[in-house]
Amino acid sequence: MNLTDRFLKQRMKMVDTQIRARGIADQRVIKAMEKIPRHLFVDEGLIDQAYYDSPLPIDRQQTISQPYIVALMSEAMELTGKEKVLEIGTGSGYQTAILAELAERVFSIERIAVLATLARRMLDALNYYNVAIRVGDGTYGWREEAPFAAIMVTAGAPLIPRILIEQLAVGGRLVIPVGGRHSQILMKLTRLSADPDDLKKEDLGGCRFVDLIGEHGWEN
Ligand code: SAH
Repeated sequence: MNLTDRFLKQRMKMVDTQIRARGIADQRVIKAMEKIPRHLFVDEGLIDQAYYDSPLPIDRQQTISQPYIVALMSEAMELTGKEKVLEIGTGSGYQTAILAELAERVFSIERIAVLATLARRMLDALNYYNVAIRVGDGTYGWREEAPFAAIMVTAGAPLIPRILIEQLAVGGRLVIPVGGRHSQILMKLTRLSADPDDLKKEDLGGCRFVDLIGEHGWEN
């Protein structure tokens, strides 16, 4: 059975109406979203909603992000294909697959082991061998692999963890939702020099993510 084909039309329509129509212009992001079978990353019972304009629940009270938010955050990473990037909050692995298309190497951290295992399985099935997944508290970053050209956090943080800025290369981008437990502002920070306080800060708009839980996030 070729599930990919069954959903191809829905996926192309999703990209047209939710992604292109809302101003996402990075052609590499658009191509990645046209290619990756989002329906394989959602619960089987929700497969017919996989291309809806909304987030969906995944296991363990977490969510797979809305397609538009995935595109917006991916575009903000400004990737050309040569970068080493870090993702915090693997979740379903859908955003991870998008990053695997856009960057050279992806390091992804998930605190819930069962989610990491399921994501790993799907990424293997789709031949994404340029992804390393680790189970743990991503608010510490991944020091052994730093510096990163870009870091994406896909859970809502109370504050920007300084340790993540320290793991950015000069010129690197950090894309992170910051704010309260119920709503956040999607922030893009660009590290301008060796001084981690020398940052360009941009507000990409309001959003709503599940909690970033950990040492430099919310308490469990
Ligand atoms: N990009 C994912 C988002 C999943 S929801 C997707 O679209 O499927 C956010 C994820 O972040 C959850 O799986 C949650 O368990 C994880 N998370 C929360 N705090 C974390 C932390 N400190 N380190 C790593 N992962 C974390």
